[in-house]
Parts: sequence; structure tokens; C-alpha cells
Amino acid sequence: MPRIFDLEEYHEKLKNVSLIVGEGLCSNVYVIGKDEAVVVDTGVGNYANPIWPQLEELGVTPDKVKGVILSHAHHDHAMGAFIILQKADPKIFVHTLDTMYIASRFGPNLVKVEEGDVIETELWPLEVIWTPGHTEGGMCLYNRDEKILFSGDTAFADGRYGNYYSESGSLTAIIESLRKLSELEVDIMMPGHGSPVFKDAGEHIKLAYSKASQRA
Ligand SMILES: [Zn+2]
Repeated sequence: MPRIFDLEEYHEKLKNVSLIVGEGLCSNVYVIGKDEAVVVDTGVGNYANPIWPQLEELGVTPDKVKGVILSHAHHDHAMGAFIILQKADPKIFVHTLDTMYIASRFGPNLVKVEEGDVIETELWPLEVIWTPGHTEGGMCLYNRDEKILFSGDTAFADGRYGNYYSESGSLTAIIESLRKLSELEVDIMMPGHGSPVFKDAGEHIKLAYSKASQRA
């Protein structure tokens, strides 16, 4: 079964932020807020990752899911959105350049976003930072005041970074995206896979940038 973490136990700024860690090949799912919840990435949406039992355990009933943000439109992040759509009617935010395949099936729920767009949540607004490289329309979500970054599959803990093997992937692009992220002030980073970083996350990003640069 997927496991749920109340992230306030790890950082006081993360009150009403939860992490659902899925089973198998499945992205992290972050739930921001309670009454007007925004879900960042949705997991693979298979039998082992039903998502609704976990959302309901958090008190997030279908009427409370107001938004879904996909860091990019790979299966392991995006297919869970179809399960969410079975019961709820959220806006689904995807970068314009990642809307050709899976996301084109979200119909009227799809909202295309680009660099600099701001998505409101119950807790803080999140700015879209376009970070191509893992996919062409990969994006991170950033709050400057709290120094919080949802880093999708662009940057992970301990200087790891996303692969660039998919059809729209590019090493050159991911290096440039990591450079861009390394210029942001980031304390807390919540990546698409693996453990979040609750302190000095900028150092993890700088390490990723330096490691990726050495590959070029
Ligand atoms: Zn991916």
C-alpha cells in the first residue's frame, strides 16, 4: 500500500502538506492544503496506487480537490490524474510543451501553463519555472518567499538529476535547467521521486548542476 507522510513533522513550513509515496514505478504525490487541495503529480494510477483512499485518509474528499499540477506528463506522474477525474473536477495544470499525448486527454480540465505563470494554492502561490531536459515541457513549482521548490524529475536529493533519454529529453537542456534552478534560493525541495530535502536544498541542486555539466 502507498504510505502517507505528514510533512509538518519534518518542517514547520509544511503544515498541511502531505506526501504519498507510491508502490513500484510511481512518482511522489504531494498534497497541498485541505479544503481547497492542490495535488502535485499523481502517480501511475494503477491498481497498486488507487490514490483516493490516501486522499480520503487526509480528509481530502472529491469536492475538495481543486487543482492538479503535473511536473511533466510521463506515465508515472500523470496517469493518476485520470483516477482523480473519476470523482473530482480539478483544473489540471501542465506545461504547454507536455500536452501532446497523455495530457491531451484531460479535456476541459486541462490548463496549459508556461514560465512565470502563477498557480494559487491554499498555502502559497507557486510560480512555474520551465525546466526542460527530462521532457520538453518539464517544470518546477517555486515559492520565493518560503524558498520551497517542487522539482519534479529535474533535480533530486544528493545531486541526482533527471535522465534525458525520453523522446523530448536533452542533456544540454537539463544542464541549463539545473543552472537556472541553482540560481534560486531553495531551502526545501520536494522531488518527483525519492526523499524530499528539508534544509539547504540549494546545495543539492548546485551539486546536480555540477555533476550534469561534467557529462556534457
Ligand atoms: Zn519522468
